[in-house]
Amino acid sequence: MRLSKMLFVTLREDPADAEIPSHKLLLRAGYIRRIGSGLYTYMPFMLRVLQKISTIVREEMNAAGAQELLMPQLQPSELWQESGRWDTYTKAEGIMFSLTDRQGREVGLGPTHEEVITAVARDMVRSYRQLPVNLYQIQSKFRDEIRPRFGLMRGREFIMKDSYSFHTNEDCLKETYARMHDAYCNIFRRSGLEFRAVDADSGAIGGSGSQEFMVLAEAGEDEVLYTEDGKYAANVEKAIALPTEPEVSQYTTYEKRETIGTNAIVKVCKVLKCSPTTVLKNVLYQVTFDSGMTAIAIVSLRGDQDVNEVKLQNELTKLAPHYKATTVIGLVVPDEEAQAKWTAKTLPLGYLSPAVSDDYIQGSTTVSPKFIRLVDPTAVELKNFVTGADEVNHHVVGANWGSEFTLPAVVDIRKAVAGDRAHHDNSQTLQTARGIEVGHIFQLGTKYSQAMNATFTNEQGEEKPFVMGCYGIGVSRLAQSAVEQSYDKDGIIWPVAIAPYHAVVVVPNVTDETQMAAAEKLYQDLNAAGVETLLDDRDERAGVKFKDSELVGIPFRIVTGKALKDGKVEVVIRSTKQAQEVAIEDVVKTVQQWVKEAIG
Ligand code: ATP
Ligand code: MG
Repeated sequence: MRLSKMLFVTLREDPADAEIPSHKLLLRAGYIRRIGSGLYTYMPFMLRVLQKISTIVREEMNAAGAQELLMPQLQPSELWQESGRWDTYTKAEGIMFSLTDRQGREVGLGPTHEEVITAVARDMVRSYRQLPVNLYQIQSKFRDEIRPRFGLMRGREFIMKDSYSFHTNEDCLKETYARMHDAYCNIFRRSGLEFRAVDADSGAIGGSGSQEFMVLAEAGEDEVLYTEDGKYAANVEKAIALPTEPEVSQYTTYEKRETIGTNAIVKVCKVLKCSPTTVLKNVLYQVTFDSGMTAIAIVSLRGDQDVNEVKLQNELTKLAPHYKATTVIGLVVPDEEAQAKWTAKTLPLGYLSPAVSDDYIQGSTTVSPKFIRLVDPTAVELKNFVTGADEVNHHVVGANWGSEFTLPAVVDIRKAVAGDRAHHDNSQTLQTARGIEVGHIFQLGTKYSQAMNATFTNEQGEEKPFVMGCYGIGVSRLAQSAVEQSYDKDGIIWPVAIAPYHAVVVVPNVTDETQMAAAEKLYQDLNAAGVETLLDDRDERAGVKFKDSELVGIPFRIVTGKALKDGKVEVVIRSTKQAQEVAIEDVVKTVQQWVKEAIG
């Protein structure tokens, strides 16, 4: 491609609305144009990057035995009604765009495709003989993200590779899951990314085992906790660890104490001169179920620790059947206005105990009259602890489970933090890093097949629900993550395998016929040899062209300049800025070899 013929516009200044380096660089180098919130046009260079990533994805998915198909983006609500996800995905916090067509039928724009693929399998797979199968597609997804940001990192329309596997049993699912894990490692390695597979929460998708693939970068929206020995890594949402040891409480007898103005842990610790590790804190949550019921939870944990709301939501979801519900659709720390809707009398907030009376709740047809009481295992171990006295400006000290307080249901709801000790090895402490989630693999089990009555006939002639897995890669997010991991003050440094072009031939002076002729020939020969090459034949100053090639991040630059008189050209490697003179007749071979080595 000749740059003189392309729509090629670069910006000198950082665009005002971009916060992170990769977003700024993709805008400045003309890869993407913002069309609206979370909506971008992929310009020709960007499209080439996306196509290269897609090719790598296809090669690895096909090699792992998956087949490509293409499902509709517009999905009938009926399928989502069957799985029970229509309301949770379209109402309140729902991320699915939905609309009503001219016949009054409700449809949604696909944020994911479990329902559609399950309907396909239900219709087409009858017998165990047809299993296992693994089907994938590469397609635009739509999500009404509450905070679209960072360019392609969190868009409202973005490209995803999603695949779904169907099995007769869990063991078979685990085999495919492991194969997908390996395929994902190959995809990210070949795309030139530094990444880590981490244990993950299964979220609204459901199911049991799941792992995320994180590109480590400061701009990541996720926190990863890991150990130096490489044996443990998890998303903080999922991470488990051993907390630091608590101090020994100085209180040995149970007493009520006046503690004026101590409605926060730091304050009570100051007044009672105690460690937060000897305090039991009790946090109030308002839980909304999809049945319309509201329940109030009182969650107890050690004073130095925080609630992991993802774990809490998962535990509360398990209780949903008690509230004639299937899932939790809202989880908030209620403010005064929210409390006013269900309190019978003012709560002594900041001074709650785990035994706070149910009388504070005004039960109704939509509000459960009893607290859900939960305690984290770490807090179960507390002895002679300090906690609220259910009376403003008062705490109790020297309290114990089993004597002064009945132990609530014990569930892991604590947020693991850097510095905690690892379960597998006490001497390893957790480290923290930021990560960008580029892929996610799940063992779904029978959640969708059961809900949608998607079955096959097993060897014994019985009807069984499919055991399923699902596997996603954010193709457009991956592209931007590569930039976030690889740039310098002058611009992007693409990994060779996903760069829009491998090389650019720059003509410093287009009016110089010798320069132009040499450049034309190199441009032709390089392309003929499979080195994807651009020709910068624009009538611009040489400095402008050099700057642009660095900004755009083409891996190899060939300059038909002064050295021509010696039969040479200058070749510059973008990543190291290393420049060398190469004899014209050796250029194709040399660059071809570099590309080959880089792509592997
Ligand atoms: P996140 O936690 O970042 O919102 P998710 O867990 O909801 O993502 P999945 O449902 O697992 O996402 O989707 C599969 C992959 O699609 C993700 O691993 C991610 O790479 C990508 N992805 C998800 N949401 C977006 C988005 N809004 N913009 C770009 N890529 C996305
Ligand atoms: Mg995910």
